[in-house]
Amino acid sequence: MKKKLVVGNWKMNGSLAANQALIEALLAGVGAPACGVAVCVPAPYWAQAQDLLASSAIDLGAQDVSQHAVGAFTGELSAAMLKEFGVRYAIVGHSERRLYHGETDAVVAAKTQAALANGITPIVCVGETLAEREAGHTEEVVKRQLAAVVHTNGHCISEIVLAYEPVWAIGTGKTATPEQAQQVHALLRAQLHAASNQSDRIQILYGGSMNAANAAQLLAQPDIDGGLVGGAALKAADFLAIIAAAQ
Ligand code: 13P
Repeated sequence: MKKKLVVGNWKMNGSLAANQALIEALLAGVGAPACGVAVCVPAPYWAQAQDLLASSAIDLGAQDVSQHAVGAFTGELSAAMLKEFGVRYAIVGHSERRLYHGETDAVVAAKTQAALANGITPIVCVGETLAEREAGHTEEVVKRQLAAVVHTNGHCISEIVLAYEPVWAIGTGKTATPEQAQQVHALLRAQLHAASNQSDRIQILYGGSMNAANAAQLLAQPDIDGGLVGGAALKAADFLAIIAAAQ
């Protein structure tokens, strides 16, 4: 069976002191987890996190990556820079970046390529808004978002991690039911299957108000291979409970 993966997305939270306390608490409690574990910290703290996480069971992730390799792109961070700080994963196409930074499917695809070209595993996020769900467009939206990244120019699609994050469930406390999530994960799995004979290797994470209380049920679904966790990843006890549920 595929190993599960639990990823914390800290978003724009943290400080030197808070990060140290959180990482130390995670390291004290994580033991030898049966699943993969990563934390996606804000870029200024990569060096701090790299030091604290060295030779631990927890990998380092970034929350975004530039589609460009180098040059006059003020404020951007290249995949090669991520690599220098031991970053293993980069979230791409998070709905907050699609919404607040105008990231299109084409930009998300270019970022996916840039990550893969530098040995960084992109965690590609897809998900529908509430209006799209209510209009019955969930399938069409997530399929379009995934189709944009399926062609990875020489890189194998099986090297990505996919995350289904229904926008209406993010930070709202309104989790998708295990059945709702499983239904979309199964659609995504079928689409990946049609694109690659290696698709069974791809981990499809669920994200959106996952917490210590609902994680086990979500993670028990056949096509849910882990979680992309926001708010609950900022509390060591909650994040550890989700990791424990991902066996
Ligand atoms: P919450 O867990 O806070 O809903 O955030 C989910 C998310 O956006 C993770 O990337």
